[in-house]
Amino acid sequence: MSNRQMTAAFLMILMTAALIGCAGYAPEEIHYGTDQCDYCKMTIADQSFGSELITQKGKVLKYDSIECLAAADMALASKSQDVHSRWVTDFGQPGQFLDANKAWIVLAERQKSPMGIGLVAVSSEESAAKLVDDVGGRIVAWSEIKEIVTVAWKLENSN
Ligand SMILES: [Zn+2]
Repeated sequence: MSNRQMTAAFLMILMTAALIGCAGYAPEEIHYGTDQCDYCKMTIADQSFGSELITQKGKVLKYDSIECLAAADMALASKSQDVHSRWVTDFGQPGQFLDANKAWIVLAERQKSPMGIGLVAVSSEESAAKLVDDVGGRIVAWSEIKEIVTVAWKLENSN
């Protein structure tokens, strides 16, 4: 192997390691009743709503609700901090994290969430439709969730 080939091979190994490292970030278990919400500082208590945000550097931040995850996401974005991934809990399935990009989130009328807006996550469109049948409301997109939280908590005024 020539020097150049060696360098190329070494670079490939480094890049592969970096890729595996990135993909390796995963949500951490939430200790309900003990862990504190990184946004509102309340104890994370309800096992159906625990949420997490993982930064590009691999730091795992924990939240008691989708509301707080969305608010924290906007706060990080304003500080240009890159987000690796966002995680929400499958409603009624404690410990079952869903990638927020793949989860179906319902703005429920008759299902309380820890921070009061009524954001509930489930794993499929079918489950979301059933939830809407049960508790009213509608399916919302992540971009819309940010708007809903901004308006409900008057975030633009307080910043
Ligand atoms: Zn919170």
